[in-house]
Amino acid sequence: MKYIFVTGGVISSLGKGLTAASLGTLLENRGLKVTLQKFDPYLNVDPGTMSPFQHGEVYVLDDGAETDLDLGHYERFTGATMTRQNNVTSGQIYAHVLEQERRGDFLGGTVQVIPHITDEIRRRIQLASEHTDLCIVEVGGTVGDIESQPFLETVRQIRLEMGREHVACVHVTYVPYIRTAGELKTKPTQHSVMALRTIGIQPDLLICRSERPMPPEVKRKISLFCNVPPENVIAAEDADSVYEIPLRFHQEGLDQRLVDQMNIWSRDADLSPWQRLQERMKAPGPEVIIAIIGKYVDLQESYKSLNEALFHGGLAAGCHVRLQFLEAEDLEKSPDPAALLAGMHGVLVPGGFGRRGVEGKIRGISCARTQGIPFLGICLGLQLATIEFARNVCGMQGANSTEFDPETPHPVVDFLPGQREQDRKGATMRLGSYECEIEEGSLARRIYRAGVIHERHRHRYEVINSRIGSLLERGFRVTGIHRGPLAEGSDPLPDGRQGLVEIIEIPDHPFFVACQFHPEYKSRPLSPHPLFAEFVRAAMQRARTSGHPAPGKEET
Ligand code: GLN
Repeated sequence: MKYIFVTGGVISSLGKGLTAASLGTLLENRGLKVTLQKFDPYLNVDPGTMSPFQHGEVYVLDDGAETDLDLGHYERFTGATMTRQNNVTSGQIYAHVLEQERRGDFLGGTVQVIPHITDEIRRRIQLASEHTDLCIVEVGGTVGDIESQPFLETVRQIRLEMGREHVACVHVTYVPYIRTAGELKTKPTQHSVMALRTIGIQPDLLICRSERPMPPEVKRKISLFCNVPPENVIAAEDADSVYEIPLRFHQEGLDQRLVDQMNIWSRDADLSPWQRLQERMKAPGPEVIIAIIGKYVDLQESYKSLNEALFHGGLAAGCHVRLQFLEAEDLEKSPDPAALLAGMHGVLVPGGFGRRGVEGKIRGISCARTQGIPFLGICLGLQLATIEFARNVCGMQGANSTEFDPETPHPVVDFLPGQREQDRKGATMRLGSYECEIEEGSLARRIYRAGVIHERHRHRYEVINSRIGSLLERGFRVTGIHRGPLAEGSDPLPDGRQGLVEIIEIPDHPFFVACQFHPEYKSRPLSPHPLFAEFVRAAMQRARTSGHPAPGKEET
């Protein structure tokens, strides 16, 4: 068993997660069975309850774990399946140790960070790395933070026991370019490596992030001051796309250096799929503009997987997707919301919580429906598409979700019977992978080319089957349903089908599809998700025929 620990220094946001994920790509390509694990030093038990403003996207796994967005990078870059073992927070570690303490497991001993907390961290690393050859562990935070010290201390212990041949330490650092001096500066890197060495960790490889190419003399200087061989100082200049990183690292010899040090006998990495991807990215084709109507539009980290999935959809469709983030409240206030959507080739309403911006999103959906603009609704997007249809096609005035209007006369989206009681006690979110049966003859069936699919969920409310009879009479279709124990608590649909609404469609529209699940979590650059691919194709069709090609980018 081999371990690679990835730490970070100088500043945050250097792309430690992408570094770990790209290392995973390279070593998996060499034939190793790889897994990745992220340690988050904060005291929250998981990021599920953290604001997207604080933490960015919550990434949901098949098993329902709500995790850090870096796990999204891991899944997009490798074939490893992530489970709740792969994201561990200080909160989980301390909660577990304190529970043991209360149970009396320590037999009267004094409970301390070393060894009790560090032992628990080690146990978690072991759990995550079972049945693999190599585990890449990313330590969140920046060297020098108080919170991440127990994790780094654990790295030191494991390294001491297992040695350099089994444990490699990769440190991601920053080499700023100082304009007035016209130079790349190595001092911050020297200091951050010094901080690591003070706690007993000598890094084996340095990944040096910089905006400019790194001249050999800078590498030599870093090598000398940081006690790392010059060929182990890896330059990581800003890339145009994150999907170029594995190729760049390979060119810099990163994977070769690691397998040499750890004495791993493996084949050479075959990166041809990534090379083909890079070629496709360089010839993106016509531009297609997709409007995303959201609430955190200034903070694109909160829609990370969604942005990636749309990019993958563009790769599949052979076009360049330009995202236009629209603040839902602007649509709400605007006297002419259609004008804000003019020139958009597709409209997407993503998942969301809370009342703010909801009416703006509904107005956006209404424009997309009536003007034939391709529409994809995700989670809240499906719920709002249902509400929009109820209000504007079926005349159900004031139709709403009880999440936003508990007094609504037409609660087409609501808790399932019995759920309200449980919800008071918390923990009623439908999380993780659920099966969905897709109706024959539907657009969804053509898109997925399958009758049964599995997708990930993260929501509390559901469409209420018995309240959408008049919608179905007016052409609204439910084309995907979940039949499982959960669905037993719900009424049947008017046509007798028993199940929870998973996919809806409106026919006689170029593309109007919404899903209760989050397909974006399962899209990969090397296998784009079919829903995004088809949505982007429909948007491309509109760009071609609407007479509104993106400015300056006529299709050739
Ligand atoms: N707020 C809605 C619910 O809880 C939708 C959640 C979401 O879009 N992820 O059901």
